[in-house]
Amino acid sequence: MRFYKRYTEELTVKCKRDMILVRIVNDSMINKRIIMDNKEEIVLVCSQCGRKEEYSIVHRIEPVQKEKVKDMSIFQWKCPQCGKVQKLVYPCFYVDKDKKIIVLLQGQGVETMLDESDWKLDGYTKRICRTIEEFSEKIRVLDLRLQDKIIEILKLLLFAQIHLKEPELTDIFFYQIAEDGSFEFTIRKGDRPDGIAVSGKIYEELCETIPEYIDEEEIGFCCIDLDWAGSQIVKDRIQ
Ligand SMILES: [Zn+2]
Repeated sequence: MRFYKRYTEELTVKCKRDMILVRIVNDSMINKRIIMDNKEEIVLVCSQCGRKEEYSIVHRIEPVQKEKVKDMSIFQWKCPQCGKVQKLVYPCFYVDKDKKIIVLLQGQGVETMLDESDWKLDGYTKRICRTIEEFSEKIRVLDLRLQDKIIEILKLLLFAQIHLKEPELTDIFFYQIAEDGSFEFTIRKGDRPDGIAVSGKIYEELCETIPEYIDEEEIGFCCIDLDWAGSQIVKDRIQ
C-alpha cells in the first residue's frame, strides 16, 4: 500500500490544543511517494521549550498495538527536556488481517491517495477517519465486531437527544461495551468530558430495523461518521 503525499508544512496536522510541530527532515520529500509500510524519520520540535528530537513514526499499526490506539497514547509524545506531553498526529493506518479491518487516518491538509493494488482487501471493512479521536473510536468499534454504521446512527440519535437539554454538547464517541452489556459513550461539553451509557438492546433494535439502503455496496474506503449518519437520515426523509 502506498500513499502519495504532498509534503509541506501542511503536514503539521493542526489539533485544537497541544499541537506538535511535525517537521519533515528533508523538504525534498515533497511529492515523493512514500511507502507507508516503512518507518519514517522526522524531527519533532517541542512547542513549549523548542527542543528538537529525532523520532521514528510507524505508519502501519498492528493489532498488537491496539490498546495504545484505543487510549490514543500512540499519538502522544513526551518532551524529554521539559516533560510536556503533546499530540503527535501523522497519516497512518491500522490493519487487522484476522478481523479483516483496515482503517486509515488521513489528516487534514495532507493529500493522500491510496494504491490498493499491493493488497488483497476483498472482504475487508475499509474506513477513512479524519481525526485521531475518530480513528481510535473506529478501531474500538470494529475490533468488537460491531457495525460502525449502526453505532454512528445511534450516536446521532443520542447526540440529538442530549443536545436538546445541553446545547453545549460538541462531541460523542463510542467508548466500550460495559460488563453489563450496556454501551458506553464519551461526550464532550465545551472542555468537559463526560460519559453516558445506554442499553445494548437499543443497538440490537437498530440492527434489526436498519433500512436496507445502508447496506449498499461499498466501493473503496468509506468515511462513516456522524455526517454520514446525518446524510442517511436526510435520505430516509426524502424517500
Ligand atoms: Zn519541551
